[in-house]
Amino acid sequence: MTTRISHWIDGRTQAGTSGRTAPVHNPATGAVTGEVDLATTAEVGAAVASAKTAAQAWRSSSLSQRSAVLFAFRHLLHERADDLAAIVTAEHGKVHADALGEIARGLENVEFAAGVPQLLKGGFSEQAATGVDVYNIRQPLGVVAGITPFNFPAMVPLWMCANAIACGNAFVLKPSEKDPSAALFLAELWKEAGLPDGVFTVVHGDKEAVDALLVHPDVAALSFVGSTPIAKYIYETGTAHGKRVQALGGAKNHALVLPDADLDVAADAIVSAAYGAAGERCMALSVAVAVGDVADALVDAIALRLPKLVVGDGSEPGTDMGPLITREHRDKVASYVDAGEAQGATVVVDGRTADVPQDGFFLGTTLLDNVTSEMTCYRDEIFGPVLGVVRVETYDEGLALINANQYANGTAIFTRDGGAARQFQFDVEVGMVGINVPIPVPVAYYSFGGWKDSLFGDTHMYGPEGINFYTRGKVVTSRWPDPATSSVDLGFPRTR
Ligand code: NAD
Repeated sequence: MTTRISHWIDGRTQAGTSGRTAPVHNPATGAVTGEVDLATTAEVGAAVASAKTAAQAWRSSSLSQRSAVLFAFRHLLHERADDLAAIVTAEHGKVHADALGEIARGLENVEFAAGVPQLLKGGFSEQAATGVDVYNIRQPLGVVAGITPFNFPAMVPLWMCANAIACGNAFVLKPSEKDPSAALFLAELWKEAGLPDGVFTVVHGDKEAVDALLVHPDVAALSFVGSTPIAKYIYETGTAHGKRVQALGGAKNHALVLPDADLDVAADAIVSAAYGAAGERCMALSVAVAVGDVADALVDAIALRLPKLVVGDGSEPGTDMGPLITREHRDKVASYVDAGEAQGATVVVDGRTADVPQDGFFLGTTLLDNVTSEMTCYRDEIFGPVLGVVRVETYDEGLALINANQYANGTAIFTRDGGAARQFQFDVEVGMVGINVPIPVPVAYYSFGGWKDSLFGDTHMYGPEGINFYTRGKVVTSRWPDPATSSVDLGFPRTR
């Protein structure tokens, strides 16, 4: 039996009317478990209209009312994390512990947003001129939309909606059609937390729904996370229609391993960052750059660890790595291994021939050595459990390789040398840097974002930049009549 997955508009489930749906799979079994409605332009219009009405009332809510809803939402999310994680695993495939991890990172954003009274404090200049005060306030934009990828169906919406709502906006989410149910679970929790109907909306859909949001005159801002070509399209189209846009794209994250690195620490970190969530993370490490004579030992240390990873259904305890999101994506990832081998890479561990469950969309862990920057397995974002090792002679050569890459989301250096690490932090042209930390996702009170083709727009996501993105500034210059000139005797002295 398949479940019908419908929109969430005006605080309740609303069945789609387009007649168009997309299948949702359990990638661990390959079975179709749901049919998600795909919205038409008119359905998106109805959702935005409801959000617009809700936004008008919500912006008048007091900061403490908003904060109270966020605290309640935080409590519910924490309490029901296990249920939400099960939904994520059932549609995405990642292991349960990893799904809980993404919820924990999302929760951080809710906790940050709960401090909205502090976050929206402005500045005040008394007596900017005689009797004149100047102050600034930040006000919500109205209706803002989020378009999210399949790989973090709970966390990425939380990156956006917690701050957007705390700032007094209504938020319309268009989640990935590949794993849409987590968005509805969040919608129910928001309602239970006391959020007024219409402030959080979910419209499911594909390009038609996204295009409708991109051109809708009542959508003031768009937050996007997904692949680079679509991020670029969203940025160009949204800004051409007068919207604020932040569009985070794809990645090809390098780990630079210096000869003095603690090899066990580096190998453990690289294995978990390259193969966790089957490599379907925008902060996954997909290239290890081995400097000098560390290469042989590093490749051996990684290869030794891979057979120990248990590949299987993410809902089974003891599984380390689940399936890929679709059969087509699994086959595409495998084709990059074929191409790498044909172009001269050494296949050290071959996921194509691994003993993995046959029913779902599985691929074993793959390690390629002697990868070069001309190979397609190096140039393209693979987004699967494939790690390539590039051998370089020097730090400078490794740095130049990283800085020449079109993507610049995250990177990491492994070394015991503080001076070398500090130099790398200074030199590298990448938005998020780890020092002996493989996945340097910033905590919620910093902001997340890459450089170059990993981000279109100038605002990173969540944290202080998120608050900035979801509000616009207003500066008030104020002069009040001198109370001593009042027609009523207020008992004031002459003004100073
Ligand atoms: P995707 O770009 O295919 O889809 C993202 C969203 O865009 C989905 O909601 C989808 O429905 C919509 N979309 C897809 N094609 C569209 C089109 N032609 N027109 C309009 N909308 C369209 O990405 P995905 O496969 O869901 O997610 C994986 C990608 O996301 C990877 O490239 C990964 O690196 C990236 N990602 C980046 C970050 C980051 O923070 N930089 C975080 C997570 C994922």
